[in-house]
Formats: sequence, structure tokens, C-alpha cells
Amino acid sequence: MQHHRLVRLVVATIVALTAASAARAQSPLVAWNSGRAGEPLLTVRALAPGFWVLRQSKLSNAEAPFIYLMAGTTRALLVDTGAEPAAGTTLPLRELVDSLLAEHATRTRTPMVPLLVMHSHGHRDHKALDAAFRTRAQTVVVTAVADTIQAFLALPRWPDAEGTIELGGRTITVLPTPGHEPAHLMYYDATTRTLLGGDMLYPGLLTVRDLAAFQASTLRLVRFAKSHPISAILGAHVEMTRERRIMYPLGTVAQSDEHVLALPASIIDTLAAALTHVGDFREDDVHDDIILNRVLPPVAQPAKPRTL
Ligand SMILES: [Zn+2]
Repeated sequence: MQHHRLVRLVVATIVALTAASAARAQSPLVAWNSGRAGEPLLTVRALAPGFWVLRQSKLSNAEAPFIYLMAGTTRALLVDTGAEPAAGTTLPLRELVDSLLAEHATRTRTPMVPLLVMHSHGHRDHKALDAAFRTRAQTVVVTAVADTIQAFLALPRWPDAEGTIELGGRTITVLPTPGHEPAHLMYYDATTRTLLGGDMLYPGLLTVRDLAAFQASTLRLVRFAKSHPISAILGAHVEMTRERRIMYPLGTVAQSDEHVLALPASIIDTLAAALTHVGDFREDDVHDDIILNRVLPPVAQPAKPRTL
């Protein structure tokens, strides 16, 4: 009897542990779609009801960007449309978004909500499938250009102002954060307390193209974080390994031991302190979970003296 009870207990524990690890394995906050042979070209995981994290596989494009879809009762917001898929393949992003929004409508017993498509920023690896959405019914695509975004969100100033997008029971705050790229935005979902870090804040090589703008954006981010609870920062890529301070060489396809996607809110302080100390830096500034990298504008070549 005792023996049987013990066996049952052991079996129950194994079942519970398996279920727990399966649940963990499905979390979008840990590593996934990181270049395993045969993995799907696009995968989705739900963070919470009405909040999906999509990842383009490394096999589709080595940038393997993350794409975010959030929905309320009156509208949905798609942040980014992915990178150019590998030659001869397609990325079923529009089909996946359609099916997620259809499921959302069924679950919430609301009609299909119209879709707004915006971006973390205007680099090519985040807007490759914009065209697929420009032809979609009930869809607005906002081009990733600062003037267009400022007009669309009716921001009084750029970049020192916050925009609001109401999705119906879910409010998204939009933070202009130029520095990596002039039209860079972060998005804050108050429902899940999630901040989308884009290409400014993720576990990897944070490329600073306009240092003054990047510093000013970081200061605004510090101010924002003081007045808003942040449970996780989810960026647009993962380039670090699980080992601290180590990143994969750029272009790596199989990242078998990659860093988790989620960064804690305290990474904002790490970033701010780094930018305070680093000065007018040239060499990579390496931290446990992020690496600051400077891209300088090309030096103008002195005009050649004219020879007659
Ligand atoms: Zn990117």
C-alpha cells in the first residue's frame, strides 16, 4: 500500500513537472525559434490574452526579428512586419495575423477588429511585409517615418512627447526613441506592463547611430519607467548567448543557447549608467546582457585638388 502510494506520488510529480516544463517551454519570454533545423519559419506564442509574440525563424532570415500583435475590443496593433524571407520561401505573417484576430473575435465575442500596423523603426528587417498589409481590408499601415508618425499620433513635438493608441480595454503608450534610427518607437502595454524595446533595447548589439538622440531617448525612458510599472522589456532581436557578455557573431543562424527574450526593467538603469560613463565612445561597451555599439557617419573625403 505504502509502496503504491509512493509510486502514485512519484508518477503525479513527474506529470506535474512535465506539465510545468511544457508550460515554460511555451512561454515567449524564454528562447525559441532560434535556428533549430526544421523549425517553422514563423512561430507565435501568447504572452497573455490579446498579446502575441511572433518570431521569424533564423532559417527564414538570420535577423530573426520578433513581431508583436496586441488586440483590444475595438482595434488591434501589429508592431513590425518582419524581415525579407529567404529566397524561394514566403512568410505567412498576414495569414497568421488573420487567424489570431479571428480567434480573438470568437473568444471575446466581438466583431473582427480593424488593424493598425506600425513599426519599432524603419530598418528593412522590420517592415519587409508591409505591402501584404497595405492591401488588407480594415487596415491602416503607418509608414515608419518620424513626420508621418508625429502627424498620425497628433504629437505636439517630436521626439519629446508620448502618443496613445486606444485598442478598447487596452491602452498602448508610444514613446518616440530616436538614436538607433530617427523614427524609432517603443510601445508600452499597460495591461501586461510590457515595454517593447525595439532595436534600442534587447539582448544584443545595440547600435547607436545618433549618440545625442540615443542619450536623450534613454533619459526620457528613465523618466517613463519611474512612473510606469514594467514587468518585462521585449525587444526586436536576441543576439546574446546565455553566457553573460557574449554575443553570437552577427549572421549566426543556429543560436542553440541564446539569451532569453525578456529583459528586466532594471536594464534601463544599466543602459542609462553606461551612456553616462561611456562618453563619446568608439569601442563596443560590453555589459552582461547588452552591448553598446557605435556607428559613426562616414568621414567626408577631402576634395581632391584640381589639376589643370
Ligand atoms: Zn533590427
